[in-house]
Amino acid sequence: MKKRIVVALGGNALGNTAQEQRQLVRQTAVPLADLIAEGHELVLAHGNGPQVGMINLAFDSGVVPAMPFPECGAMSQGYIGYHLQNALREELLSRGLDRPVATVVTQVVVDKNDPAFQNPTKPIGSFYSKEEAEQIAEKTGFIMKEDAGRGYRRVVASPKPVAVVEDRTVNALIRDGQVVITVGGGGIPVVREGDHLEGVAAVIDKDFASEVLAEIVNADYLIILTAVEKVALNYGKPQEKWLDRVTVAEMEQYVEEGHFAPGSMLPKVEASVAFAKSGKGRTALITSLDCARDGIAGKTGTHISL
Ligand code: ADP
Ligand code: MG
Repeated sequence: MKKRIVVALGGNALGNTAQEQRQLVRQTAVPLADLIAEGHELVLAHGNGPQVGMINLAFDSGVVPAMPFPECGAMSQGYIGYHLQNALREELLSRGLDRPVATVVTQVVVDKNDPAFQNPTKPIGSFYSKEEAEQIAEKTGFIMKEDAGRGYRRVVASPKPVAVVEDRTVNALIRDGQVVITVGGGGIPVVREGDHLEGVAAVIDKDFASEVLAEIVNADYLIILTAVEKVALNYGKPQEKWLDRVTVAEMEQYVEEGHFAPGSMLPKVEASVAFAKSGKGRTALITSLDCARDGIAGKTGTHISL
């Protein structure tokens, strides 16, 4: 049966340099095209950690004026979308599927009173010595923190996504049968100031943004594709147990018990729970890129539903 599926691609689907990414997305396109060939409607979201980091670093050189972080995010959406839309277009055409694929530069509204702004945690950009970091903080007002013994870096907040500004555009493209790439890197974070949207230096978790997107497009499935085939309890420990089908209530219990690493698996599990809770018949699936097709067929992956 035809499903509407939001697919959130993880870092392993993209790669680090432009050359690497162009190669890797050709592989990424295969399982995505499989799903489209089976008749499903796909909406794509993706992370941008390494890419936005690279863009930000490139502008840190002092050779050209500094580039604000929201603009770096916009550049990363265009750069990643360009590669993804071409790779997917080509893979679809090779199967005789003439389906338009388009990237939408997407802004995601955050609440300026989000408590995350009081405690920035996401390191971005270059490493500095303590003295340099203090000077930068004084000059720019940036918050600089020590990063795991490697030096000082700027940190920004990771607020929760509230709304997708381009929601009607995305839905119009879906209605027209187009494959849309949107909320790249979690979206460009903006705060509302009347009619004006002000970009803020922050990082929205792509798993949470994908969840909001999945609700907005009324998806049947939210698939979070990452480096592991399933979610585990006691991950990496002797009593490791891979999860197949889990209810929201069970997953909430496992979250309580601390089974999922913050910053990697926890946001995926939380996004999955939120989506499964948001409406009847909505299922979240966490699996690897290679297993996407079997996952949708119910053969593998971790499925979360009410
Ligand atoms: P992505 O780029 O896809 O968001 P992350 O590295 O942020 O990838 O998160 C996925 C990683 O989370 C997995 O590759 C795995 O190493 C790690 N992980 C942490 N806890 C768990 C768990 N309980 N079960 C499975 N994987 C886990
Ligand atoms: Mg991640």
